[in-house]
Amino acid sequence: MDNAFLPFALPEIGQEEIDEVVDSMKSGWITTGPKAARFEKEFASYIGCKHAFAVNSATSGLHLALEAIGIGRGDKVITTPYTFTATSEVIRYLDADPIYCDVDERTCNMDVDLLEKVVAQAIQEHGAKVKAIMPVHFAGQACDMARIMDIARSNGLRVVEDAAHSLPTTFDGKMVGTIGDVTVFSFYATKTIATAEGGMVVTENDELAKRIKIMRLHGFNRDAWDRYNSPKAAWYYEIVAPGYKYNMPDMAAAMGIHQLAKCDAFAAKRTAMAHRYNEAFKHLEGVRIPHVERPSDRHAWHLYAIQMQSEWRDAFFDRMKDFGIGCSVHFIPLHLQPYWRDRYGFTPESFPRAFAAFKRELSLPIYTKMTDAEQTRVIEAFKSVHAEFAR
Ligand SMILES: *Cc1c(COP(=O)(O)O)cnc(C)c1O
Repeated sequence: MDNAFLPFALPEIGQEEIDEVVDSMKSGWITTGPKAARFEKEFASYIGCKHAFAVNSATSGLHLALEAIGIGRGDKVITTPYTFTATSEVIRYLDADPIYCDVDERTCNMDVDLLEKVVAQAIQEHGAKVKAIMPVHFAGQACDMARIMDIARSNGLRVVEDAAHSLPTTFDGKMVGTIGDVTVFSFYATKTIATAEGGMVVTENDELAKRIKIMRLHGFNRDAWDRYNSPKAAWYYEIVAPGYKYNMPDMAAAMGIHQLAKCDAFAAKRTAMAHRYNEAFKHLEGVRIPHVERPSDRHAWHLYAIQMQSEWRDAFFDRMKDFGIGCSVHFIPLHLQPYWRDRYGFTPESFPRAFAAFKRELSLPIYTKMTDAEQTRVIEAFKSVHAEFAR
């Protein structure tokens, strides 16, 4: 048996990606150009959405989304503490503040019953300063978007979805990316498709699309490709806003085109792996396999987030490492992080369910490059470690 250390995550990069990146390098057009445009077009068609903008990270994309919906100084955005700091930091980029809604302990997604109360209370306190809801589809399972859209619409709020984990994911049969006002995907190295660094901002709204397009690249009213290919006045451009530098280079889009083409196959493999883990672990005492709220919907399975007795978790992680298996923990909730904790005066009990889920959570490796034999190793290691704790 091969006992080399099994990393927690690895991208799957084929010869197609390599050839396409080399082709960009040889063509001389390495930054944003025809391949980024093609990636956007194919992504929009895959999702079934009107506009798609390739960016250099999901973080950039979330920033653009909030800027486009008009978030500014002193505004409030309702979001989840059970996420990576990027979801919240973009709110602070615009000098606005997050207001956190605690999660459902089993899915780690925003608790929508609680959301109704959090929104009502925020509006009572801050009035029209409350502008948006930012759900995160944890691990690749959609939040209850029907309730979230209802709550948003009845309170005049916009919805920006952090879909960094959720390609491809559906809610009630609808693709994530066609539901909220703006949705942002991530192609970071560990995500379900990867361009090293990268993201995609999608929307159905023409006005928001226009703003996102302008702000993505310096506030230009035309992008570089149009500029150099326009039959007239190739040198002419106008700056209409102090925009950002968030464009995706063609060398990244070159990877993205081929990763996207494999997205369904990748998803099928991840789903099969998740089911195999579920079967192996579902009867283990003191362990809770990931809760799936709507089995008829697609789950992207970016993470396989298992929960266990909280006293076990830290040592469990270490013992898995002894067995040569890389695990991780998602997430350390934001309200425990020094910046967020100190700025808003949080204690662990400010969001007790996010805190409890964090104490119990362990993420097992789930990625398409893993072989069946490697997954068997993970399962056997997990069962052995479990036996040490559960006696
Ligand atoms: C990875 C991640 C991001 C950030 O994505 P980048 O492309 O690295 O900027 C944002 N939110 C969540 C929930 C993530 O997991």
